[in-house]
Amino acid sequence: MIEHESEQRQSILEQPPDEFLNVCAICGSCRYHLIHNRGAIYNDPKHTLRLDTHICHRCGVIFSNPRLSEKEVREFYRHEQGVLHNNQDINYLANQSPKALTKVRIHYFSQWLTDSPQRILEIGGGVLNFGVSLAHQYPNIHLDELDPSLPHNHHLLSNLRLISGFMDKEFPDSISDRYNIIVAFHVLEHQHNPKEFLTIIKKALTADGLFFLEVPYPFSPFWIRKPIDACFRTVHPFNFTIRSLKYLLQDSGFTVLSYDISSLAMLRVAAQATKGNANFVPISKHDLRRIDRFFRSWKLYSGMNKIKPLSRFAHMYAEWVWHRNQNINQQ
Ligand SMILES: [Zn+2]
Repeated sequence: MIEHESEQRQSILEQPPDEFLNVCAICGSCRYHLIHNRGAIYNDPKHTLRLDTHICHRCGVIFSNPRLSEKEVREFYRHEQGVLHNNQDINYLANQSPKALTKVRIHYFSQWLTDSPQRILEIGGGVLNFGVSLAHQYPNIHLDELDPSLPHNHHLLSNLRLISGFMDKEFPDSISDRYNIIVAFHVLEHQHNPKEFLTIIKKALTADGLFFLEVPYPFSPFWIRKPIDACFRTVHPFNFTIRSLKYLLQDSGFTVLSYDISSLAMLRVAAQATKGNANFVPISKHDLRRIDRFFRSWKLYSGMNKIKPLSRFAHMYAEWVWHRNQNINQQ
């Protein structure tokens, strides 16, 4: 049942998900189990609804089932999210300074950036902090920013062009030259069909092109996260772990070059559009049990934080769980 039933429906995301999966959409396994049954509408921790979240016994991906249909997701991005930043002052954005997270991202990816005129595309970077900062720092690159809220074919800087649109099946056919690098921060976990999305990315890349991505990371300390009910969201049908992301990328014809979890709540990956050696090892029963325990502990921590006399012990408990789970990261 939806909370706030008496309120008028504000968003497509507020309807209960009703599309059922019989197998894991990442690896095709029919073995998975429930790990949590509540989630946030968009990213509001106070506005939650019934959302069944499962973990796959083979690739370890954490996914909503049932979930919103492809049509509902498409409508949300076309008519709600897609117009969210439409009133941005573009000239103000052209002169913004890099935020702390942008600096971390550029530092990580800079090892693959060269002085040669690389063609780079960022998908969904509507507020342009990464794009503007990268374009200023690397004057030789040609950067395109693709986002539905941007003006179309607008040259914001001499080496930064804005494109209004989506990374859909038509996009690779619409470009004259393929990209050397494609960047997508917090985009993959929103995809209804991540495998199809990666196929489209690969088509838009040069033969040895690079794909840099960042997704939320489920195995981070509780005290830097929202309560567990707000961790899972209708707008994120998938929550990727290192194992499941490696599986998906390899299965889609990419080789993972490097990953980075130094930001704790985020997983950054650099991958190349060449088929490498597959070395996928399914998750073990022992590790599945450990992950179950991790989410049960998070639920307990979130509950303790709500009760005043217990809240002062919550952080100590979270630190103890974090210490016990240091090597859960490889899952
Ligand atoms: Zn799977």
